[in-house]
Amino acid sequence: MFFDTKESFKQAFVETLRSNYGKSIEQATDVEKFLTLASLVKAHANSNVYKTNTYLEKQAAKKMYYFSLEFLLGRLLTNNLMNLGLYKVVQEGLADFGIDLNTLEDIESDAGLGNGGLGRLAACFLDSLATLHLPGNGNTIRYQYGLFKQLITNNEQVEVPDQWLRYGNAWETRHPDEAVKVKFYGDVRITMNYETGRLNFEHVNAQEVLAVPYDMPVVGADTKCTNVLRMWSAEASDNFPADQDFIKYLNSINKICLNVYPDDSTVEGKYIRIKQEYFFIAAGLGSIVREHLKQNPNLDNFAEKVCIQLNDTHPAMSVAELMRIFLDEYNYEWDKAWSIVSKVFAYTNHTVMQEALEKWPVEYIRTLLPRVYTIIEEINRRFRETVYNQSHDRDLVERTAIIQDNQVKMAHLSIVGSFSVNGVAKLHSKILVEDLFRDFFNLMPEKFNNKTNGITQRRWLLYSNPELTNLLEKTIGPEFKHDFTQIEKLEQYIDDKKLQEAFLKVKYQRKLALCRFLKDNYQIEVDPNSIFDTQAKRLHAYKRQLLNILHVIYLYQRIKQYPTFTMPKTTFLFGAKAAPAYVLAKKIIKLINCVAEKVDNDPVASKFIKVVFIPNYRVTVAEYLMNASDVSEQISTAGKEASGTGNMKFMMNGAITLGTLDGANVEISERVGLENCEIFGLKANEIENMRSTYSSVDYYKQDARIKQAVDSLLDGTFSSVQDDFIDIYNDLIIRNDEYFVLADFAAYVKAHEHINALYSDRSAWARLCLLNIAKSAYFSSDRTILDYVRDVWHIKAIDNSKLK
Ligand SMILES: *Cc1c(COP(=O)(O)O)cnc(C)c1O
Repeated sequence: MFFDTKESFKQAFVETLRSNYGKSIEQATDVEKFLTLASLVKAHANSNVYKTNTYLEKQAAKKMYYFSLEFLLGRLLTNNLMNLGLYKVVQEGLADFGIDLNTLEDIESDAGLGNGGLGRLAACFLDSLATLHLPGNGNTIRYQYGLFKQLITNNEQVEVPDQWLRYGNAWETRHPDEAVKVKFYGDVRITMNYETGRLNFEHVNAQEVLAVPYDMPVVGADTKCTNVLRMWSAEASDNFPADQDFIKYLNSINKICLNVYPDDSTVEGKYIRIKQEYFFIAAGLGSIVREHLKQNPNLDNFAEKVCIQLNDTHPAMSVAELMRIFLDEYNYEWDKAWSIVSKVFAYTNHTVMQEALEKWPVEYIRTLLPRVYTIIEEINRRFRETVYNQSHDRDLVERTAIIQDNQVKMAHLSIVGSFSVNGVAKLHSKILVEDLFRDFFNLMPEKFNNKTNGITQRRWLLYSNPELTNLLEKTIGPEFKHDFTQIEKLEQYIDDKKLQEAFLKVKYQRKLALCRFLKDNYQIEVDPNSIFDTQAKRLHAYKRQLLNILHVIYLYQRIKQYPTFTMPKTTFLFGAKAAPAYVLAKKIIKLINCVAEKVDNDPVASKFIKVVFIPNYRVTVAEYLMNASDVSEQISTAGKEASGTGNMKFMMNGAITLGTLDGANVEISERVGLENCEIFGLKANEIENMRSTYSSVDYYKQDARIKQAVDSLLDGTFSSVQDDFIDIYNDLIIRNDEYFVLADFAAYVKAHEHINALYSDRSAWARLCLLNIAKSAYFSSDRTILDYVRDVWHIKAIDNSKLK
């Protein structure tokens, strides 16, 4: 039922509650009220999907598809109501019934269909695409369980299933009639077609899986343009061989979409992971091709109508699969097919860490996908030939090969099969062309470009920080809400004492909101008058949560040893999930929680510091955490963090970056000025130059502060379990501290001292925060998306006034 006023909403709400559940408002549960409200919003959004698609069909417009194994969407009710401009109408309508909209908002669980930054980027991009009236849809897996839910028990991480679908997914619509068949295992049957003189390739004896799409509308802000996130779910196919065990078949199918693969680096589950990767790209391509052929006589103009962005290498097999479709299903010749297919894909790289680059044993892919494998082989053969003819350099041929040493290198397949390759921050893209992909850059420099990441200011500022939004609107007018470049106007007012006062008050209100959240959900009490110093991100050695907690240990030891020691009261907040098999990361989580406990129980130390580990870090936590923070910890080893997007969320909400010159911190510091953030530590080139001579033991021996902090890992200060933290100790001292934690320790201590000094001048501090907000326009994902459109996708914005 359609609504756009308070009265029409109230009527629709009452009637839908009755027709869906057979209940009145008084009889319905909160869950039923939430689901009813969401169904009304979904209906509204889907009618815009219809308008958008009808228009695009008429225009025969080019579309972009964002292929990503992860979309970390978070909750959608607030976002959708706000973007549709219906928030007030609904809030007031519900209030008339005595229902608090916030209560219903809290019923929704996060759609946590991803690990971290990469998946959240995909979600921010969808929001910006729709808002900018651009035809861009998402393609992914409908995981039955999101990334695990993290509990902290006895100071350790415990993983339990994230049952995000317990109440169903209120936003999706199942489309069984648009299912696509996906084949695994079996053999390739090659026959000669004597009429055409060509070889025919057929994938036979395969296990067939039915991919069923579930579509979620992606609502833009103040536009009717509404895109779709298509999520694929694996189901049993009718073509099930009668001689096979149906239960076995079902079990193997159920595993494909069971859960988000929680780790990018362990051996376990690799097989299922490949299945997931092929499953969602084969289904996605199948449906895109089918849609194309409804409107076009053949696939000759496919690259003019379709562009596919590969988010990292997880969808890399798309290149081979689209070739398979062209060759086997539509009888294209290789050269003609390749000339089209190689103009469809663009690839985004997200890591410079060798060990995180996807490689699969040939055996796995050949067994699972025999036909696709032969195509990868042929792409590899031809590419090797091209490189050799171009260079006569056999080493270069080996280094750039797609298949090498019995492994398929997914990044190489992605580069060879794409017309564009980008990194996600200026420094990262530079490292790609100078180091990681240097050989490819020399062979095909025109492919490489940078697209610095961004975040949607709607979710991360306008909707999650209404107090700051109001203050900004009072100061610079409402234009920044629609055109975020206007936030720059704030710079003129940063010296205004009244504004500074008002900002500090807003920050205090956001701290209170976080305190309430922590108390209600985790029974954690935090002093809102302390400095909130936050590091929230996945736990990885290179992100160096260890450096942060070692510094806290150092402070603890100072406080204990020097009765005159003083510092501004600081709350060190952490949020981080560790991959279940990542032993060191889990130990660091334990260390943080043990230090928190020790400090809490110490009457002196707890006057100065408090350590809080917020369990189950996710988008909803981030929405409370970023805007309540004063200090944003972005302390990865320089050269290791591709971009970071957490850093942007903090900045936009007026937190000061305490960080290394890594990822997008570089661009943050360039925009805000080095004197307006706290940059410390070794730079990327210094780290590389030190790598061969670095000795962490020297730092340990020469700096008494380091020695004392590191020794406390072994002497039982923080755990009564013998050798509980010896892995951490060994990593730093015996395995020579791969991420230069000890090398940056002294500079990190200094940086904190400097931050404390800055914080003590309240007016100057507020000025800094305001300047950071004013300079954050560049980090809007609206800007990132427009960069992609201009340089890579070449899609056209829809004229909103024509959507009827
Ligand atoms: C933004 C975000 C991230 C990415 O954080 P980084 O600091 O860039 O690593 C990860 N997880 C969640 C839930 C986020 O919102």
